[in-house]
Amino acid sequence: MSLTKEEILQKSEELNVKFIRLQFTDILGITKNVAITIEQLEDALDGEIMFDGSSIEGFTRIQESDMYLKPDYETFTIFPWRPQDDGSVARLICDVYTADGEPFSGGPRNILKKVIEEAEELGYEMFAGPEPEFFLFETDENGEPTTKTNDKGGYFDLSPVDLGHNTRRDISLALDAMGFEVEASHHEVAPGQHEIDFKYADALRTADNIATFKFVTKAIAKDHGLHATFMPKPIFGENGSGMHVNQSLFQDGENAFYDPEDERGLSEIAYYYIGGLLKHAKAIAAITNPTVNSYKRLVPGYEAPVYISWSGANRSALVRIPASRGIGTRVELRNPDPAANPYLAMAVMLKAGLDGIKNKIDPGKEALDNIYDMTASERKDAGIESLPGDLTEAITELQQNEVIKSALGDHTYNHFVKAKTIEWNVYKTQVHQWELDQYLETF
Ligand code: GLN
Ligand code: MG
Ligand code: MG
Ligand code: MG
Repeated sequence: MSLTKEEILQKSEELNVKFIRLQFTDILGITKNVAITIEQLEDALDGEIMFDGSSIEGFTRIQESDMYLKPDYETFTIFPWRPQDDGSVARLICDVYTADGEPFSGGPRNILKKVIEEAEELGYEMFAGPEPEFFLFETDENGEPTTKTNDKGGYFDLSPVDLGHNTRRDISLALDAMGFEVEASHHEVAPGQHEIDFKYADALRTADNIATFKFVTKAIAKDHGLHATFMPKPIFGENGSGMHVNQSLFQDGENAFYDPEDERGLSEIAYYYIGGLLKHAKAIAAITNPTVNSYKRLVPGYEAPVYISWSGANRSALVRIPASRGIGTRVELRNPDPAANPYLAMAVMLKAGLDGIKNKIDPGKEALDNIYDMTASERKDAGIESLPGDLTEAITELQQNEVIKSALGDHTYNHFVKAKTIEWNVYKTQVHQWELDQYLETF
C-alpha cells in the first residue's frame, strides 16, 4: 500500500527515524545506498537528492555524472535489526534519473519498468515468486568468510537447532517486520545451505524484494558471526544455490495461464510464454546466470537444469509446471541463480515470455523421461538443446539475440557485455588450484 509524502514524514517522526538509506542497484546487481539524515527527507521525497553517477558501476561518464534519485514511496520501511533507541534507520528504493529529468537507461529498475509497460500494452501483468538459496559460512578469526559450515543438516532437516537454524529464523523475522510474507524457509540439500521463499508479487515488487532480501540476509548473518553468500556454486561436489522463479501473467484480474479445459489446465498463453522462455533461454542465461561461477552449478547431478526443456513434473527440466492450478497456475524457471541482477532478470524473462505470446512460439513436446539418463544422440533426436556451458557462451548467445538485447537497451547491454567479457578474460588466464594438483607433479 502506497503512502503519501506527508504520511512518510509523519511516520518517520513517530518511528524516530534519524537516517534514511536511498537504495538503488547498479548494472551488475550490486545494491547501493546514499545515506541522508531526516532533515533531508522532504527533499529526497521530492526527488531532489543528487549523487555522482560516475562512481557507480556502469552508470555514466564523468562529464555527465549528476544523477537524481526518485524514491518509490511504496518501498518505505525501517531496518528492524538496527538499534532504534537513539534513532532508527529507514530506507526507500529509488529510480535513477538523469540531470535532464529522464529515467536513466542504465538504471536496472527503469529497464524492468519498460518491459512491464510493454506487457501492460498487451493487457498483462507479470507476477513472480522467487526461491532464493544461499549458504551460511563461518568466518575466521579476522572476520573473513570461509567455506566452512557449522551444521550437518540436509534437506528440510529439523533436528539439532544450530546456529544456521537460528540465523535463518532471525532473517525470516526481520523480513516479516519489513512487510515480507515469508512463505517457507528450510534447510537445503547441501550442508550450510538454506532457502527462504517469500510470497509472489508483481515483477517490480519482487525484484525490489530480492534486492532487499539479499542484504538483509547478509546483515543478519553477520550479526550471528556468519557469512551469507549468494555465490551460485561455492563448494565443489555439493548442490549449488539457485533462485527458481515462479511466474505467471494476469489479465483483468484472472490468471491468464489457467485454462480448465486444457488437459494440463494450461492456457494457450501459458504454452506460448513457455515457448518464449525456451527459445530465448540461452541468451537469458547471460543475465540470470551472470558469473563465471554460475555455470559450475548448471551441471548434471545437482538438481540444477542443464537441458532446455519443459515438463509438468520432471524436476530435471528447465521449465517446470508446479501442480497448483486456478489462481496459482504458474511456470517455474529453474536456471536463474541469486547472483543475478533481479531487475534485469525479471526484465529478460518477461520479455522472452511476451515474445513467445506475440509470435505464438510452440514450446514443443513435454520432456517426460529423465533427460539426464538420455544419451547425447537421444537428446538430439528429441530436439533438446543445452544451456550455455560457460559465461562466454552465454554472452555470445546474448550478442546474437535481438529480442533480449532490446529489453536491456543499448547502454546497459553494452556495459554488461563489456564488464562480463573482462570478467571472463581475467578468469580464463588464472592458474587454478585444480591445474596445479593435476599437472605440477605429472609433467
Ligand atoms: N539447489 C538446486 C539448484 O541449484 C535446487 C534444489 C531444489 O530446490 N530442489 O537449483
Ligand atoms: Mg524451493
Ligand atoms: Mg530449493
Ligand atoms: Mg523450486
